[in-house]
Amino acid sequence: MEEADQKIAAEVKAHSELIKNLEYLTTRIGPRLTGSPQMQAASEWTLKRFRDYGIDAHLETAQIPHSWTRGSDSAEITSPVARKIEIRSAGWSVATNGPISGPVKVVQVESLQEFDKYKGQLKGAIVFDGKPRELPSEAEAPENAYDAVIAPSHGIPKPHLSWRDRLQFLKMAAEEGALAVILDSGKTDNLFNMGGGFHRYQPSDLPVAFITHEDYDQIYRLQQTSPVMLKVTLGGTFSSGPVPVSITVAEIKGTQFPQERVMIGGHLDSWDLGQGALDNGTGAMAVLEAARTLKALGFAPKRTITFILFTGEEQGGIGADTFLKNHSAEIPKMDGLLIHDTGTGKAFSIALEDEYETASLMTEVYAPLQEVLDLQPLSTRVFGASDHVPFMKKGVPAYFCLQKPAHYREAHHSQTDTFDKVVPEEINEGAALLAGWSWNVSEMPPPLPHHQESPSGGSD
Ligand SMILES: [Zn+2]
Repeated sequence: MEEADQKIAAEVKAHSELIKNLEYLTTRIGPRLTGSPQMQAASEWTLKRFRDYGIDAHLETAQIPHSWTRGSDSAEITSPVARKIEIRSAGWSVATNGPISGPVKVVQVESLQEFDKYKGQLKGAIVFDGKPRELPSEAEAPENAYDAVIAPSHGIPKPHLSWRDRLQFLKMAAEEGALAVILDSGKTDNLFNMGGGFHRYQPSDLPVAFITHEDYDQIYRLQQTSPVMLKVTLGGTFSSGPVPVSITVAEIKGTQFPQERVMIGGHLDSWDLGQGALDNGTGAMAVLEAARTLKALGFAPKRTITFILFTGEEQGGIGADTFLKNHSAEIPKMDGLLIHDTGTGKAFSIALEDEYETASLMTEVYAPLQEVLDLQPLSTRVFGASDHVPFMKKGVPAYFCLQKPAHYREAHHSQTDTFDKVVPEEINEGAALLAGWSWNVSEMPPPLPHHQESPSGGSD
């Protein structure tokens, strides 16, 4: 295995096409909302790229109820000061019917029960979702890219509502007659955040948008001493009916156990404010590069190595579900999945995700990679927030690459998720890790053991 992993690392170093592919994806195709024409173009283009490399590939296509297209959004504080501010619709937010104006009302709830105290007070109001977010301190250097955007709790209970509770919160605000809900982007330097995809690609219950942390903070402070009036126009539009969404699936057939699958993957969809470079053009192009590398070396794996570029990771899921549905009979023969989904930083470890029954075999598979790619030991933390989670729930051994932060805090879901942030050497090492891991798992005498199915495996 170590010899093979060395050859893989050398091939990536010498002939990688990852950066060329990523540049095309981010610059020519651009950001890729699930169901958008750009996402479908990206699916078609990746299909072609796999085939260019001589690898069998196909698309698996499902439908979502509606695609969503960002329109033009604007906002201004009209009283007690007058100032235009930047605003961005959340994904799948309904538009406002022309400009809407109303007083700002901060709704501060840590649980849905607390919402009751606002009953009867929100009619005609523009609702602010609680206090301004606390930004991580400059001194706090996150160990990995995931922690850079989702801070570890350190035992402190979550100060914010879960995603599911938040959907309920929006519904309650709509029922109370609120005009819109405004969210704090929670980033420095006027960067926007993005989220949405409410109710599995259905329009939101009322207009929802992000403003910058700086503006959110100012409006919050203003309203502490006097009423604040805000004028907001949001212009997103929906497709009239269902649209196709595809995942790209490619494979190098196994020579001894062709019906067994070792899978590596990453999502190709993205948010739309930037170019979808670090989230997750990098991971998707690393999977493509891993495929190119294994094929170029002429390796013939014992088990089938499968490459999957998911969609819908950012917006309500669907890509991973589509694969599992289409291949449900094969689930017992899925030997493992490794996901790359946190940007350009060096992949320095793999998270075991609580799958301790796989630890001894994973250690054998991982040891040569650790040597060749200078990795830290396997991580025993649980991350559970990407396309591997639905596989984990089905009992399939599924893992997540841990990466260095490398611009991730700023770029994640913001307008600066762009190609210029990419660190070529580091993301190329990620491709070598994916290729090496898939090869090593395919060559192990026994497969990685499955665990019990659980409807709630992983977290959000
Ligand atoms: Zn992602």
